[in-house]
Amino acid sequence: MSLKGKTAIITGSNSGIGLGVARALAAAGADVVLNSYTDRDEDHALAEEIAKAHGVTARYIAADLSKGAEARRLIEKAGRCDILVNNAGIQHVAPIDEFPVDKWDAIIAINMSSAFHTTAVALPMMREAGWGRVINIASAHGLTASPYKSAYITAKHGVVGMTKTVALETAREKITANAICPGYVLTPLVEAQIPDTAKKYGMTEEEAKQKVILERQPSKEFATVEQIGGTAVFLCSDAADQITGTTISVDGGWTAL
Ligand code: NAD
Repeated sequence: MSLKGKTAIITGSNSGIGLGVARALAAAGADVVLNSYTDRDEDHALAEEIAKAHGVTARYIAADLSKGAEARRLIEKAGRCDILVNNAGIQHVAPIDEFPVDKWDAIIAINMSSAFHTTAVALPMMREAGWGRVINIASAHGLTASPYKSAYITAKHGVVGMTKTVALETAREKITANAICPGYVLTPLVEAQIPDTAKKYGMTEEEAKQKVILERQPSKEFATVEQIGGTAVFLCSDAADQITGTTISVDGGWTAL
């Protein structure tokens, strides 16, 4: 399968899952647009590295997706969008009665509302091209809950709901919308939680990974960014033409519990 001639925009892709998905789509032949809120030489260098490695066009466009207008501008600036991967996300952990309002607002804006804004601008581009894929990186936390992650879980459940709505609105077109729901993937977002978790439980960081973080992941292994990238590539294939409005869990059995 080749995605040659398709343009993929991956939000929040200068690190972690987004970067893994960008690399996988580029390896499958897609031109890619990387994004985050920073505008550093190293961000643009990532795009250059991907272009060279896979012989595709790769660009980096800075946009702060906590702001709806910037999310819309990202897609407009890219100018074409056949594959939209809504991936940007942040986390904050606190009991709901102590949850800082600014963190709540930022998580809802970046993890959920940005996908509304990007999708709204990207869909007309997909319609014009006569083909499209919306791939939302939700989470096992889009299907189940855990304590102390109220904003994240609200946003991820919202993304799953939005995915179903977009699928119904595009069902008669060659456009699909699906959500990938990863369990724990070892990325900077998760690595940042390890020292605090170890401290809280009086464990080594390795014990914290195995006994606390992977507690709900029956495989006791982290999923990898390559596996999430491979799932995104599959969703872009002809085999996935009739897969729409659903979630694909990549979670080592978490949601089977
Ligand atoms: P990460 O921190 O490595 O990546 C997050 C990306 O979002 C980064 O590129 C970051 O720069 C970007 N971002 C943050 N704020 C932004 C903003 N205001 N504007 C634009 N970009 C912004 O984390 P990750 O683990 O790769 O997470 C990627 C996605 O996968 C998130 O939506 C996360 O919720 C989801 N996810 C992660 C895991 C996991 O275990 N790592 C599990 C399930 C779901």
